[in-house]
Amino acid sequence: MKTAVITGGAGFIGSHLCDYFLGRDIHVICIDNLITGSMDNIKHIKSKKFDFIKHDISKRMEVKGPVDYVLDFACPASPVDYNLYPIQTAKVGSLGTHNCLGLALAKKARILVASTSEIYGDPEVHPQKESYWGNVNPIGPRSCYDEAKRFTEAITMAYHRAHKIDTKIVRIFNTYGERMRINDGRVVPNFIYQALNGQDLTVYGNGRQTRSFCYVSDLVRGIYALLLSDYNLPVNLGNPDERTILEFAKEIIKATGAKSKIVYKPLPADDPKQRKPDITLASKLLKWEPDVPLKTGLARTIRYFQSKQ
Ligand code: UDP
Repeated sequence: MKTAVITGGAGFIGSHLCDYFLGRDIHVICIDNLITGSMDNIKHIKSKKFDFIKHDISKRMEVKGPVDYVLDFACPASPVDYNLYPIQTAKVGSLGTHNCLGLALAKKARILVASTSEIYGDPEVHPQKESYWGNVNPIGPRSCYDEAKRFTEAITMAYHRAHKIDTKIVRIFNTYGERMRINDGRVVPNFIYQALNGQDLTVYGNGRQTRSFCYVSDLVRGIYALLLSDYNLPVNLGNPDERTILEFAKEIIKATGAKSKIVYKPLPADDPKQRKPDITLASKLLKWEPDVPLKTGLARTIRYFQSKQ
């Protein structure tokens, strides 16, 4: 039986990865310090092939026994969270990833690190291809995340080149689904919470900024395919179905049947104006494309948030 270490395994994407790997009969060691992750996300797991370790991966990590795969998914992932935890965010993408790479080297394991569309910053190229180097403010409020993730990629390539370890880098675009935290401040939980509670939806700026939302099961399937591939350079995974945030707010109002109106609030600093993945590489390399339409994914996500009310 293979063993996977999944850091951030009690988080939103991490917990879905735990389920996916257990479903493939892979022993999972989940490591999380629970600052933004939650035991609630993994409490349904009864498998004997599952171990949980509460640990901050920015500090030295000890894992007993053989490890085949390391998946580095520990990191606050919402602009609100990385403003609350700027130092932890900067450390987990740098020291945390360094520790994961050290673990992979020691165990002769394959490692996949989570990067992000944020490495493209406020992109001047649209849609974003892997070959674009980005437009990031190195000292802005999002920089603790953006620059740490750029470092994640840099040190991963350094380990790949210096130690010849088998590394994968996934650039994750906006992802949504069950187990997002209702108060994590991101647009999907904010709008759904507001709609379900009869509040007005808070659109930041004029709402003309765009995002493209990928349902979590599509993403997890792509991550697994990338892990098993022999490609070592970064790969975008996301849904290219782009819309403005204003359009998105209207979709949530429709999908929930809410009577909410839209109110406008100031746009946060450095909020990217447009974002849409070019997934040509993933579709050629991994034969991967997202197949859950926004309507279906939103219906599932809304049901989840309703059950948590
Ligand atoms: N946003 C919004 N209202 C909210 C939360 C977010 O209009 O209540 C906007 C935000 O300004 C951004 C987009 O929605 O343009 C996506 O924000 P999110 O925090 O989900 O993630 P980002 O893609 O910015 O990392």
